[in-house]
Amino acid sequence: MRELPSKLPDLGVTIFSTMSALAQQLGALNLSQGFPDFGAPQDLIDALAKATTSGFNQYAPGDGLPILRQLLAEQYAQRDQVTLDPNRHITITPGATIAIFCAIQATVRAGDEVIIFDPSYDSYAPTVQVLGAKPVHIALKHPDFSVDWNEVKDAINDRTRMVIVNTPHNPTGSIWSTTDWHNLIQLIQDKDIVVLSDEVYEHLIFDGQQHRSACSFPELRDRSFVIGSFGKTFHVTGWKTGFCVASDHLMKLFRQVYQFASFCGVTPVQVALAEYIQQHPEHIRELSSFYQAKRDLFNQSIQGSRFKWTPSQGTYFQNLDYSDIRPDLNDTDMCQVLAHEHGIVAIPVSVFYKNAPQDLRLLRFCFAKKDQTLQQAGEILKKV
Ligand code: PMP
Ligand code: GLN
Repeated sequence: MRELPSKLPDLGVTIFSTMSALAQQLGALNLSQGFPDFGAPQDLIDALAKATTSGFNQYAPGDGLPILRQLLAEQYAQRDQVTLDPNRHITITPGATIAIFCAIQATVRAGDEVIIFDPSYDSYAPTVQVLGAKPVHIALKHPDFSVDWNEVKDAINDRTRMVIVNTPHNPTGSIWSTTDWHNLIQLIQDKDIVVLSDEVYEHLIFDGQQHRSACSFPELRDRSFVIGSFGKTFHVTGWKTGFCVASDHLMKLFRQVYQFASFCGVTPVQVALAEYIQQHPEHIRELSSFYQAKRDLFNQSIQGSRFKWTPSQGTYFQNLDYSDIRPDLNDTDMCQVLAHEHGIVAIPVSVFYKNAPQDLRLLRFCFAKKDQTLQQAGEILKKV
């Protein structure tokens, strides 16, 4: 048989796989791919072991374990003052990525346009492209990564079906203000435009700021998918368990697709998460300060280096500007220099763009690491 043409001809292996492999190959410190190098909470590990030994090893209900959905509904009621029916408005999925995939598949058709703010998480555009729709990339303003609302207004037309929002934002660590949300509402409220709000870092938000979920805005309630990930919140990215929140109508469309993409999430993981959340309600309450301390430790450990930075407002990523060190190098080359000559691996921010600004000199470092790893990173970076 002849080789079939790729549906994503411009894409290779993701940057996360590439950089983690490079770190492993060189034995370098890996602050590239976003995952903790410390253990998950022991009670959560024990709960998973208990779930498997007590027989929770067959398919879960397609929409997710009822108790876990109930616990999520309670979180949204408390934080966002929204009433969600766990049966109709919440679906547990094997990771946030597949929830993003299904939400897009369920509502976007070939020929439609989807607005994506760059730098953007790497799964959005290919998911849009693979179904024959068109990603419309709008670059966030440099250096504060705010939205140019005039550009958004100009980009919206009759083919626009979706706007993808990500707050707190990977890779920049910026967060959306209430004004941003109101600007978006104003531009889309009289149009058939859906919002996909990727909020996987909802519990990692710093300096006393509050996360606002898309579903907390009455104007967006009927038109938004909100995506979350237990992997980020409970230090278990490898457990690949996430969720989608949507209105009756959007959730019906979502489930039609999702039942054939996976059918259900992993049963014992859902049992363990539900047990742990009930045992340790403080885990989520304390998560922001836990990560804020890591951000601060990382930033203190690079004091006196030649990098420049603005403290991350959320997520577990800190971007560092190296324009005072090697302005001649683009960020991909700078990452190679750091990896090969200094033994530390980061992610070049330009890979999150369709068209990165030529003068972008930013690297993303993941600070979901042991204090010792962060101090070691600081020692290295101070010598660069
Ligand atoms: N969205 C963003 C912005 C992310 O950073 C990640 C984590 N890689 C995901 C989605 C995917 O989450 P999950 O691992 O639960 O699929
Ligand atoms: N979200 C993680 C990051 O941004 C990586 C996830 C992945 O490897 N796909 O680093």
